[in-house]
Amino acid sequence: SHSFDFDNDHGRVRVAVRSRPRNAEELILDADFNDCVELFPELKRLKLKKNNWSSESYRFDEVLTETASQKRVYEVVAKPVVQSVLSGYNGTVMAYGQTGTGKTYTVGKLGKDDASERGIMVRALEDILASTTRGSDIVEVSYLQLYMESIQDLLAPEKINIPINEDARTGEISLPGASVVKVEDLDHFSELLQIGEANRHAANTKQNTESSRSHAILMVYVRRSINQKAEDETTSQEKDVKSNLSGGNGIPRVRKSKLLIVDLAGSERLDKSGSEGHLLEEAKFINLSLTSLGKCINALAENSPHIPTRDSKLTRLLRDSFGGSARTSLIITIGPSGQHHAETTSTIMFGQRAM
Ligand code: ADP
Ligand code: MG
Repeated sequence: SHSFDFDNDHGRVRVAVRSRPRNAEELILDADFNDCVELFPELKRLKLKKNNWSSESYRFDEVLTETASQKRVYEVVAKPVVQSVLSGYNGTVMAYGQTGTGKTYTVGKLGKDDASERGIMVRALEDILASTTRGSDIVEVSYLQLYMESIQDLLAPEKINIPINEDARTGEISLPGASVVKVEDLDHFSELLQIGEANRHAANTKQNTESSRSHAILMVYVRRSINQKAEDETTSQEKDVKSNLSGGNGIPRVRKSKLLIVDLAGSERLDKSGSEGHLLEEAKFINLSLTSLGKCINALAENSPHIPTRDSKLTRLLRDSFGGSARTSLIITIGPSGQHHAETTSTIMFGQRAM
């Protein structure tokens, strides 16, 4: 099976659509299968119903039907980004879609009882740990929640309002004060993810919010010591673009890179007209971050020299892992049922901004 091709126009975000299987309720309530989309995976196209008599066809980098396995989704969407991170470049994998369409299943599923169900985070760490050398290379993670323009540490939930720092010289983004944990092995990583999930749940219960209203962000830092062998394996992409090297003059050279895996807040339009107070504020912040993400994705697609990353914390966080030499994948998740025609349409339109 093939995966995203990043050879040409490096900066453009690659987009896959994934449709989840019909759930029990949809099987009963929507028994006439009045779908609003028809998928053509071989053509990488989908047809979206506009009204009763017309539809429109859209092309994506990949179209994944409800039969696509978690392994296939990882290989298509995330593996090329992970490989690039292992070669010293930053990268991002994000899931966007209406709540209930499979973002967390795609990205964050632990698959403790059934390894075939593992999502992108676990598979990415599995690949990274297998490709790095214990001792000389270091793999570390931070796990954060971004809610109403405030960053909370999911591995140390007492840490809130974490600032975003941008190095004036290198442009490198860092989060002063956020926990950075060295990953020992895959079991250790699964434990960290579980702790993060539990903290996310507890924080949201306390604030009386839903986790679907916040973005969950896993940051994976890879530091590899460079030896002659690694240099020899240098790919053409690496020769084209400057990578993050440090050291020299007898000091061991270290290559740093970073992978961001983001489970975005639900994209459904919150009814602003009916919302007041806190809910209205929440809706404004979610709209702000997703709208500003859409603008950046669009600017990258148009090869614009200016990517407007300053408008929200989400895009400021992504700034050094987005465009340029970084590879970025977006997976947009949809449900098959015609009941959600408006939300599905808006999700597809968001994905089209990258094309
Ligand atoms: P979201 O994070 O977008 O709100 P979830 O990942 O929680 O959505 O998915 C909603 C439900 O659908 C969950 O019960 C999940 O297990 C199930 N689901 C989502 N995608 C798939 C899939 N591709 N195959 C099987 N079940 C899925
Ligand atoms: Mg979710």
